Amino acid sequence: METLGVKEICGNIAAHNGALNAYLQVVPEERLKPGAGPLAGVCLGVKDNIAVAGLQLTCGSKLLERYVAPYTATVVERLLAAGATVTGKLNLDEFAMGSATTYSAYGDTKNPWDEDRTPGGSSGGSAAAVAAKMCDVALGSDTGGSVRQPAAYCGIYGYKPTYGALSRYGLTAFASSLDQIGIFARRPGHIRELMRIAAGRDDHDATSIEAPSFATRGFSPSEMKIGVIAEYEKKMGPAVRPAYDRCIETLKKAGATIVPLSFPEYDTVISVYQVVATAEASANLARFDGIRYTARAEGCSFRETTAASRGRWFGPEVKRRILLGTWVLSRAYYDSYYLRAAKVRTVILDRWKEFFGKVDLVLTPATAGTAFKRAEQPDTFALYLEDLFTIPANLTGMPAIAFPAGTHDRLPVGLQLTADLSRDALLIDAAGWLEKNFMDFATIERGCRHDTI
Ligand code: GLN
Repeated sequence: METLGVKEICGNIAAHNGALNAYLQVVPEERLKPGAGPLAGVCLGVKDNIAVAGLQLTCGSKLLERYVAPYTATVVERLLAAGATVTGKLNLDEFAMGSATTYSAYGDTKNPWDEDRTPGGSSGGSAAAVAAKMCDVALGSDTGGSVRQPAAYCGIYGYKPTYGALSRYGLTAFASSLDQIGIFARRPGHIRELMRIAAGRDDHDATSIEAPSFATRGFSPSEMKIGVIAEYEKKMGPAVRPAYDRCIETLKKAGATIVPLSFPEYDTVISVYQVVATAEASANLARFDGIRYTARAEGCSFRETTAASRGRWFGPEVKRRILLGTWVLSRAYYDSYYLRAAKVRTVILDRWKEFFGKVDLVLTPATAGTAFKRAEQPDTFALYLEDLFTIPANLTGMPAIAFPAGTHDRLPVGLQLTADLSRDALLIDAAGWLEKNFMDFATIERGCRHDTI
C-alpha cells in the first residue's frame, strides 16, 4: 500500500489536529516504529471505542476519562502483526451514539473541508483524520451508519463489512447485533489490503465468520445489474442528485443494467433501528456501573454509587438511549416495541434478500445532503434521520461502502453501494472501477483544504 510516511503524517497532525480535534490521543513520533510485513509503514488511526493496549479507551465519555485499554482488539492486533503502526485514538460521539461527533465529551471534531461544518458521526474523528492525511487509514465502528455517513461528509471511502467479517473483540459494544468495525480510506484498494489481513473468524467473537474472499475479480459493468430504490430517490436533496444521476449515467454507458426497485418499508428503518439499538445499548452499557472501570461517584450502597456515577458522567444522549432501551424492553412494552421491531427487521431482511435475487449491487445516496454547519445541527430527533440510507445494511448485516462522488459547493458528496452478504469483494471492485471511471480523484484531493496547507 502506498503510504504517506510517518514524518508527513506527524507533521499533518501537528499542523491540523489543534483546529480539527480529530485525535483525542496522539502517539508521539518517536514511538511510531514501522513493523515488518505487508502493511509496513501504514499509519493507522483508531476510533477511541476500539481497544489498543496501553492507549486510552474513553469512548468519548467522561466516565472512561482515565481508562487505559488492557488488551488490543483482534482487528488491530492482526493489522499490527502485518506491520501497521497505530498513530493514536480518534474522536467520536459518546459510545458511538450520534451523527455529528458533537456528543463527544471532549469537544466536537471539525470537517477538514470546512471547519464550520461537521465531519459527521459517530466516527467523525476517523473520517477527518483520513481526509486531512493525519493517518493513512483509520478504523471506525458502524452501528447505523457511523462509518459511511462521516466518510461521505469528508470525501473519502467508508466501508462496513458483512456482519461478522471483522471480529468485534475489543470494540466497545453499543448494539451488538448491528455493530461492525469499519474502515476509512482515501483509496478503495487500501480497504481490500486491510480486509485481507484483518478479516476472519476469531475465537474471542462467537459472531465472527470465516473471511469471504477479498480477491479482485475485476468489475465489468456490462455483466452487472445495479438496483436503484425509488423511495430513496425521493429523499435525496438537490446537492446529491446530480452526482447520483451522473453515477447512474456512467454505469449505464459502460453497459450496466439499471433495475428500479421498491423498498416500501424504507420509512420504518429508523424506528426499527432506534428500538433495536437502544434496547441492546441499555444492556451493553449496564457494565458502566461506577464499580468497574474508572470514574466513581461515592454512594452509601451499590445502587447509590451506580446511580450517582452514571448520572454524573454519562452525557444526555447516552442517558436518552438507555432510558428508551430500558423502556422498550420492559415487561409491559416488550411486545409492542421490541418484539414488533424485531419482526419488522426480518421483513426488511427479506426485502433486501429479494433485491439481491434480482441485482448484484444497490446504489443509493449515503446521505441526503452535504455536511451541515456545526452551528445548525438539527435537533435530536432530526439527527436520527441522518441514518435513513445507511441503516438497512446494519439491520440486514449486508456489506456497504460509501464512496466520494464529487463535490457540491466545495463540499464532498457521497454515494453508497450495498451488496449481498459476503459479497464484499464485489463492493470493493465496484468502488475501484468507479474511482477510475467516474470519480475525479484529483478534484477530491485538491478540495480538502487541509491537504494543501
Ligand atoms: N447515527 C447513528 C446513531 O446515532 C449511528 C451510530 C453508529 O453507527 N454508531 O445511533
